[in-house]
Amino acid sequence: MKREKLNEMKMKFRALSSNEGFARIVTTAFIMPYSPTVEELADIKTAVSEAVTNAIVHGYRSNGDKYVSLTAVMYSDGSLTVSISDKGCGIPDIHKAMEPLFTTDAENERTGMGFSIMETFTDKLRVVSRVGEGTRVTMTKRLSVFSK
Ligand code: ATP
Ligand code: MG
Repeated sequence: MKREKLNEMKMKFRALSSNEGFARIVTTAFIMPYSPTVEELADIKTAVSEAVTNAIVHGYRSNGDKYVSLTAVMYSDGSLTVSISDKGCGIPDIHKAMEPLFTTDAENERTGMGFSIMETFTDKLRVVSRVGEGTRVTMTKRLSVFSK
């Protein structure tokens, strides 16, 4: 059976840390009609926060004039896909960047755990990036209520 898109949203917001909470809340509101468990909701919020923070602090180096994009799609098989993208500096070595504890920003007390958290709290994580062009992080999470 071919899966269909039940719902889709796209938004753009400025690369301001105050918008991290905004992105979390919008994503939560988008998913609510599909009865996520409390744990699923917490997982998605955490993963979205990590990706949005990365776009702001790494991709745009906190230049609030730039825009972060967020797209969410809910599918008929119960899977949710959330994409966060920036048109910032890009990642030279994605494999290395995704290693636990790897950070290019240790002086700001970053621990290099963002990608590991995204991987742990979702079912699938895909990162596409080009230096000088930007980064897109796509995460997929299956909502359990759909599979019952
Ligand atoms: P933490 O997330 O624990 O605060 P961190 O952000 O450094 O630390 P990760 O989120 O795992 O750790 O990211 C690892 C590294 O990948 C970052 O230090 C940065 O160099 C690079 N990176 C991640 N996202 C982006 C992005 N959107 N644009 C450019 N570089 C990125
Ligand atoms: Mg991070």
